[in-house]
Amino acid sequence: MSSPRPKHAPVTQFPIHGDCLQIGGMSLTRLAQRVGRTPFYAYDRQQITERVAFLRQHLPAEIHLHYAMKANPMSAIVQHMASLVDGIDVASAGEMRVALDTPMPPHLISFAGPGKGEDELSCAIAAGIVLNMESEQEMERIASLGAHLGIRPKVAVRVNPDFELKSSSMKMGGGPKQFGVDAERVPAMLARIGQLELDFEGFHIFSGSQNLKAEALQEAHEKTFQLGISLAQHAPGPVRMLNIGGGFGIPYFPGDEALDVAAVGKNLRRLLPEVKRQLPDACMVIELGRYLVAEAGIYVCRVLERKESRGQVFLVTDGGLHHHLAASGNFGQVIRKNYPVVVGNKVHGNDREIVSVVGPLCTPLDLLADRMEMSRTEIGDLVVVFQSGAYGLTASPTAFLSHPAPVEVLV
Ligand SMILES: *Cc1c(COP(=O)(O)O)cnc(C)c1O
Repeated sequence: MSSPRPKHAPVTQFPIHGDCLQIGGMSLTRLAQRVGRTPFYAYDRQQITERVAFLRQHLPAEIHLHYAMKANPMSAIVQHMASLVDGIDVASAGEMRVALDTPMPPHLISFAGPGKGEDELSCAIAAGIVLNMESEQEMERIASLGAHLGIRPKVAVRVNPDFELKSSSMKMGGGPKQFGVDAERVPAMLARIGQLELDFEGFHIFSGSQNLKAEALQEAHEKTFQLGISLAQHAPGPVRMLNIGGGFGIPYFPGDEALDVAAVGKNLRRLLPEVKRQLPDACMVIELGRYLVAEAGIYVCRVLERKESRGQVFLVTDGGLHHHLAASGNFGQVIRKNYPVVVGNKVHGNDREIVSVVGPLCTPLDLLADRMEMSRTEIGDLVVVFQSGAYGLTASPTAFLSHPAPVEVLV
C-alpha cells in the first residue's frame, strides 16, 4: 500500500515550453487566463485533425471512418469532426440533433443503441438517418412508424457476433448481450425485412472497445468479414454498408503501448479484395470514438490546498470525479490505476515529490492521482489529467455534490 506506483503512461503529444504545457499553440497558463476559471476541459483541434490523417495514411482508402460521438459529443468537436470523417454514429436522439447540425448528410449518420424510444425512432426516420436495429421488436416498431410517417426507414441490422474481441477491456459482442441480434437469428430477421417497407442498408458488427492489441483486432476483422459475407446470403437486397466496428484503444496506464494501426491496416488490405468480390456494393465502415479524441484532450484543475496526513501529501484541487469519473477509476476499471497526471505549469519541476491528487467531494473515491511522482506544487498551480478527450465530462456525475460544471474549450 505504501510503495509508490510506477510512473504514468508516456504522454508526448503536447509540446512543453519553459516547463509549461502548450495546447492549441498557447501555454496552459495563458489558456487558463483565457478560460477565466477552473476546472476546464481543453481539446486540441490540430491533434484531432492529425489523428484522422494518421488513420487515413495507414488504413486502406476503401475504409470509411465514422466518429462514434458518444466518446465526446461537444458540438464544436462534432462540427470539426464532420469535416474530417465520412460519417457520424449517434446513440440517442440528443446526439442525433448535434450530428444533424453539422454538414454531414443524414444518410451518413447512423443510430445504434438498445431501447430506442418511439419518439427517437420517429425523429430518426424523418431525419433519414440509418437505424442500426438492435432487436426484432425494434424492426417491427420501425416499420410501423415508417408506415405511419409515410417514409421508408433506412435500416441496418446490428449483429451480436458469435465471437468475442479478445483483449478488449469492454466486450460488446459475443455470448449473451443486450446489444444487437444474435447472429444465428439474423437470417430470419432478414427474411422479415424483405416483407416490410424498409430500405436494407447492411450490417453493424461491433464487438468491443479499448483494444491495444493489433492481433486481436485483426482476428476480429477476419471473423467479422466472414460473418458479414455469410449473412449477406440471406439479405433481402445488396449489402450497401458493412460496419465492422472499431475498438481501437489508446494507452492510459503504465505499461500500455500504442496500438499498431499500420498492422491493422495491412491486415485489412489483405482481407478486402475477397470481401469486395463477395459484397461488391458494400461500403466498409470503421467507427471510432476514443481513438479520435481521447489523446487530444486534457482536464485542468487548480490546487486549492496542500495537505499532509501521516506522511502523505494530498493536493486538494477544485476538480474531481464529478467532472472526470474515468480518471478517478470508477468508470469501468477493475483495479484503479492512475491516468497520466502532471503539474501543467511546471511539468518537470526542479523538485519532485510523491503526492495524491484529490477533489473537493466528500468521498474517498474522489481521487485523480494516487501517490504519483510530480513536481512540487504551490497553491494555484494547474494539475493536468491527460488522455481526457473521451468519456470525460459527459461520462461523469456532474450533479453529485452540486458543484459547478466545468467549461469545455476546443483550441
Ligand atoms: C461506444 C461505442 C463506440 C465507440 O467506442 P470507442 O471505444 O470510444 O471507440 C463505437 N460503436 C458503438 C456501437 C459503441 O457503442
